[in-house]
Amino acid sequence: MTSRGSRRRATGRHVAEDQTHNRLTYTCKDCNKVHQGLPAVVFEAPAPYYGIPAVEREHRTMLDEDFCCIDRESFFVRSVLIFPVKCVSDTFEWGTWSSLSKENFERYLRSFEDFDQSKLGPMFSWFCSRLPGYGMTGSLRTQLVPQDNRQRPLVEFYPDETHQIAIDQREGITIDKAIELARPVLHKH
Ligand SMILES: [Zn+2]
Repeated sequence: MTSRGSRRRATGRHVAEDQTHNRLTYTCKDCNKVHQGLPAVVFEAPAPYYGIPAVEREHRTMLDEDFCCIDRESFFVRSVLIFPVKCVSDTFEWGTWSSLSKENFERYLRSFEDFDQSKLGPMFSWFCSRLPGYGMTGSLRTQLVPQDNRQRPLVEFYPDETHQIAIDQREGITIDKAIELARPVLHKH
């Protein structure tokens, strides 16, 4: 993890790198061992970035752990989408990407090092990650909510959003679903 990544957690939360805030333990179907905690599923770039041919990315895009820009006219920031997990205190976290207007992107950039970045207030944003199993999520409206203490901003779907992703954020997911979602990254270490 780079210096910036270590200052802003992958999950955007005050947690140890080993995610010991998650007490959930379970026996894994894949390796039959007991795992503890739910690793975050993190996307390295916003979905539109992957639509740019690889050979064109170098001159058309800018990408690091927190910011992405395409053709100097589309702006994205790393965000965190949290699903509660039913019946336990654990959460399931996605490391997602969210669009911002040029004006809000510049506001966000200017205050990025500030410890009181929630002062920006919620900003309109399109959700820009494709979560496996959730179909098309690229045109969902959200509010991006900047956080204090150099934590990544949180994604909030609008209360009237009826897409499953918004329902799962509002109502939470079962432990079994959380484990299933975490499965692709459980054995990456
Ligand atoms: Zn396993």
